[in-house]
Amino acid sequence: MRRLWLRMRPLSSRGTPQLSGRCACGGVTIDVKSVTPSHAPAYCHCNTCRAMHGAAFALEAGFRTADVVVTGATASYRSSRHYERRRCATCGAPVGGVHHKLGAVFVPTALFAAPGAPPPEPLAPTMHLFYGRRIVGDAFDGDGLPKYEGFPPSD
Ligand SMILES: [Zn+2]
Ligand SMILES: [Zn+2]
Repeated sequence: MRRLWLRMRPLSSRGTPQLSGRCACGGVTIDVKSVTPSHAPAYCHCNTCRAMHGAAFALEAGFRTADVVVTGATASYRSSRHYERRRCATCGAPVGGVHHKLGAVFVPTALFAAPGAPPPEPLAPTMHLFYGRRIVGDAFDGDGLPKYEGFPPSD
């Protein structure tokens, strides 16, 4: 009996968070079970991302909704039909957006970076979206990443 009970418990690290981040006040935590994004990390220069992040651009990676656990009080805003952006209800930091059609949560990769270090390698930026709307001039022109006028052609 005891053996059976033990076998039913997770024996590997498989259910434990592989990425963990938090908002500025610490009231909201984001745990992701897979370090490999379902949607490649991208800079987004669109008007909505700029306004929602209060920044020149956003840098986010998408993860399967089932792999993401958000804990704490959040407020949400639907910036488009399928996309629900969430913030910490206390400090207002963006803590990820749920894309209901894609079944993915897009999380700012900066939330997973330790102070003074870049986020883990699978979260390195891979492309620029809405590059024509950028407000950063030629700052990224030589970075070797593909630059799209909207979403990548495969989407
Ligand atoms: Zn907060
Ligand atoms: Zn955007």
